[in-house]
Amino acid sequence: MKVYLLDNGYMSCDRNWIVNMATYATEKNRNPENVWTKMPVYCTLIDHPQGKFIYDLGMDRHINEYMHEIGRHQEFSFPYTYSKEQLLENQLALCNTTIDEIKGIVVSHLHYDHIGNLPLFHDIDVYVPKEDYENALVKGKAELYFDQYIKRDDIHYIPIDHNFTLVPGVEIVHLGSSHCPGLLGMLVELEEQNLFYPSDVLYTKENFGPPLRPRGREYDSLGFKKVAEEIRTLVNEKNAKIMYPHDIEEFETYKKAPAYYR
Ligand SMILES: [Zn+2]
Repeated sequence: MKVYLLDNGYMSCDRNWIVNMATYATEKNRNPENVWTKMPVYCTLIDHPQGKFIYDLGMDRHINEYMHEIGRHQEFSFPYTYSKEQLLENQLALCNTTIDEIKGIVVSHLHYDHIGNLPLFHDIDVYVPKEDYENALVKGKAELYFDQYIKRDDIHYIPIDHNFTLVPGVEIVHLGSSHCPGLLGMLVELEEQNLFYPSDVLYTKENFGPPLRPRGREYDSLGFKKVAEEIRTLVNEKNAKIMYPHDIEEFETYKKAPAYYR
């Protein structure tokens, strides 16, 4: 089995979105400078003897326009930047893979930065966390769940509320309410090293600590602590390296396609 990280560009934002109260005023420093930082976005290709799968679908190349259309001004608070080389189909080409070869998709949750390339796929199984899928269908655009990702007639959405083995060596781990009502993490057991994907329960290493530091806005702050400690138990037990979804410093150290973990 080979595991490839597919670089899909980055969002930029105020660091306070990543770590709650990263900068704050004090009596002596009444106007601290906020920090503008990068949040990498990537997808993971699992090239397994039983088929090729993708975990998380990154960003839609048109997202800045969509945000503008709904008045959310993405281009100001979370602008997305990418090069042609970072488009999903071009990253897959680095791994000698085409869109048509993908046998199934797992999305950790249905936020637009994890399902954005779904429009490239047709007639395919997509495993989604049950609770977030149900939430997305109810909340829709009000919470930045877009119909073009969650209401496609030719996509077979498979709601998941338990752990399951995708293929031998790849365990999908159901994570409870925290960043959103439910997420799907992934444990990949490799010869070289075990990898664990916590998705947005932990944007960065700094969120994980210890001590835990929540993001700027939590859907469920008590749930965050519970799920993060469950992750700590699991990664310790499996001696797994954590693949943070949005940590620019960690991302620099990860192997990226065409290099791979095996
Ligand atoms: Zn995210």
